[in-house]
Amino acid sequence: MPRYDLHCHSTHSDGLLAPAAVIARAAARGVDVIALTDHDEVSGTAEAQAAAAAAGIAFVPGAELSVSWEGLTIHVVGLRIDPAHPALSRGLEAIREGRRTRARRMADALAEAGIRGAWEGALKYVTSERLVSRTHFARFLVEAGHAREVKDVFNRYLVRGKPGYVSHSWATLEEAVGWIRAAGGDAVLAHPGRYKVTTTRLRRLLGEFRDAGGTALEVLSSSHTPAQFVEFANHARAAGLRGSSGSDWHGPGESWMDLGGLPPLPAGVVPVWQDW
Ligand code: AMP
Ligand code: MN
Ligand code: MN
Ligand code: MN
Repeated sequence: MPRYDLHCHSTHSDGLLAPAAVIARAAARGVDVIALTDHDEVSGTAEAQAAAAAAGIAFVPGAELSVSWEGLTIHVVGLRIDPAHPALSRGLEAIREGRRTRARRMADALAEAGIRGAWEGALKYVTSERLVSRTHFARFLVEAGHAREVKDVFNRYLVRGKPGYVSHSWATLEEAVGWIRAAGGDAVLAHPGRYKVTTTRLRRLLGEFRDAGGTALEVLSSSHTPAQFVEFANHARAAGLRGSSGSDWHGPGESWMDLGGLPPLPAGVVPVWQDW
């Protein structure tokens, strides 16, 4: 059975390796089909595509879109998108513009908490001037000695109720799924295990996602435990969604699970790639 990894990041968003290096690593680790899914960005596509051709593995153009739903931030992965589609391009640029203003407010919020120089500090870690993420602030906070590692930052800073947190409005669910569909892609609700929601609310989210045109739920993710693999497989089936699999890899030393590290999809889930 071919090995799929349909969620990972490069230096075109908050990953640590350039697209070509990410793809080469995936190929070396036995991945047969790889999607590059940078946050709100498709500018790494051409480089990744060429690297996949050179390595002899299949490549899926993708992106991970930031969405606000009922006051929560959720992520929607677009797969097999046309990266040049005008509606998608405009939508992604609008989200990135929001990221820039949010980043300024985050730096101000950190300054109020007594942490100076966060804007300049985060910029040192930004690898694409088109995209700034909380991860870049997190790397600065580690460097400045405020946390031991990036994961630790997200327990003590930059999240609701903690220093450096600012609320932000991303795209709506309907917009994000609509852009992905317009660009010919499949929409996947990413890492459902990360959202702090009750089962009732998760079912509502899955229903709204499906009704908006969503195709699949990311059943397998490095954010999930093996018990959650089974739980989200059941949710996917019940909601009439297919299943996807993605490591959400960001870089050596920062992601505990490597590219291609997930097991096969549980039986009974229709893979998102069924008709590809
Ligand atoms: P942003 O989209 O700019 O709000 O940043 C979100 C990114 O922060 C995610 O894509 C992850 O890369 C990172 N992140 C969020 N929560 C955590 C966490 N608990 N541990 C490690 N990284 C995290
Ligand atoms: Mn990220
Ligand atoms: Mn995500
Ligand atoms: Mn991701």
